[in-house]
Amino acid sequence: MQFNPRYPLLNPKLFHQQMPVPLKGAKAGHFNQALADQLQWSDADQAAWVEICSGQKTFAEFEPLAMVYAGHQFGQWAGQLGDGRGLLIAQILDKNNQTIDLHLKGAGATPYSRMGDGRAVLRSVIREYLAGHALNALGVASSNAVGFTSSAQGVQREKLELGAMMLRTSDCHIRLGHFEWINQYQPELLADFVQKCIEWHYPECLNAEQPILAFATKVIQRTAVMIAKWQLVGFAHGVMNTDNLNITGSTLDFGPYGFMERFRPNWINNHSDYNARYTYQQQPSIGHWNLWTWLNNLIPLAPAENKQQFKEDLAQCLEHFETTFLEHYTLGLCQKMGLPSFHKDSFDCSMAFLRILQAEQLDYTDSFIRLQNKSYTALRDDCLDTRQFDTFLNQYQSIRADQATDELDVQMFKVNPQYTLRNHMLQKAIELAERNDFSEVDRLFKLFNTPYTKQQLLEQTSDLAPLPSDVPEVMVSCSS
Ligand code: AMP
Ligand code: MG
Repeated sequence: MQFNPRYPLLNPKLFHQQMPVPLKGAKAGHFNQALADQLQWSDADQAAWVEICSGQKTFAEFEPLAMVYAGHQFGQWAGQLGDGRGLLIAQILDKNNQTIDLHLKGAGATPYSRMGDGRAVLRSVIREYLAGHALNALGVASSNAVGFTSSAQGVQREKLELGAMMLRTSDCHIRLGHFEWINQYQPELLADFVQKCIEWHYPECLNAEQPILAFATKVIQRTAVMIAKWQLVGFAHGVMNTDNLNITGSTLDFGPYGFMERFRPNWINNHSDYNARYTYQQQPSIGHWNLWTWLNNLIPLAPAENKQQFKEDLAQCLEHFETTFLEHYTLGLCQKMGLPSFHKDSFDCSMAFLRILQAEQLDYTDSFIRLQNKSYTALRDDCLDTRQFDTFLNQYQSIRADQATDELDVQMFKVNPQYTLRNHMLQKAIELAERNDFSEVDRLFKLFNTPYTKQQLLEQTSDLAPLPSDVPEVMVSCSS
């Protein structure tokens, strides 16, 4: 590994250095060899992956640390938070010379654990491990993980579960909530901190006329692109608190997430989300709210002679959110539909299709595959309101009639995944892993290496459809 320890250069008030506390009886769960190669792990590092991913081996080049931050949780100011059960154990360079954080989740209690035990359970580790892998393979910027370990140590949740640790990777663990903590508790650190964020993550903004405004605009745009991609692949993050969004627009901290099965935009996948704040359909407006909250923390950086103008300029940065989101979402949706994005009726027609999926409770992934395979009869046969479907199909085919459909069809195959990470697939992998059988984790890991490609030898029939609607849902909550 090539180390690039830079977070420890920040003011020590922003973190707490401590060692991981290993779990009893740590054992191998799964290892992401391709990612370890990308991160330039040597053969010796790779041979020691179980020790590294269970907190037994740390590095002389980096003293592990817990970050402090704050946040708004479910819309309410939550005060000081921080890494309560994870440690940054290294910052290393990957093959592209990009600095990547190695964050060991489940590594024991820290000063920021509040009432928590500092641990993660195998169930939630597997969920995060496979979703990070799937999002990356789907082309959505996200954290990932080099590997995870299970253990023989029980951890109490609603019931006693197995403790586990995961070595998460991300280009950035600096959250919107970092700025909130600094503003609230150590405002004199703000200018330096923002300067470091720009240097590390947006160096191109250093030369802008107003670097802070350029930085804010980039953060807003990247977050908007990330959320547009979530909407397109049907990902609901589940807990979009300001402490769970980072400043590089790569998906982070998605415990109680869900991938869309039957198209239900207002479905609550996180059962701790009593007010339905973080449903799929709310994500763009919540992203906007979080960024607005974040921007308020930059106001103290206004130049003394120009305070009002700076505030207005910050507000103006937020205007980029909606335009960036719509640009990416509209283009992506038209590509999924096989419609030309420049045609004036393409977006309306796409929305008509989504309304049918919603009204008929059709499967999101499967319906786009049927559309791409021109299985219109199969789609129509699943509709109760066939008139609505016929109206849609007429418009759809008339838009496509004047187009070079070959190119549109090729595009459809590139953007419509063959597989989505259904809750029942995860559940089966988790139940087997809890009995020490990681074969299903491995099968899903391989299936989601290339989610846009049909893999007859790996797939199972149950991967291709949601559970029947009379089977109770798997419950996922914040308690992980
Ligand atoms: P999350 O919703 O998982 O992002 O967690 C919100 C906050 O609670 C973060 O500061 C976490 O570090 C902390 N936290 C969550 N679970 C635990 C736990 N089991 N022990 C200690 N802290 C926790
Ligand atoms: Mg979090």
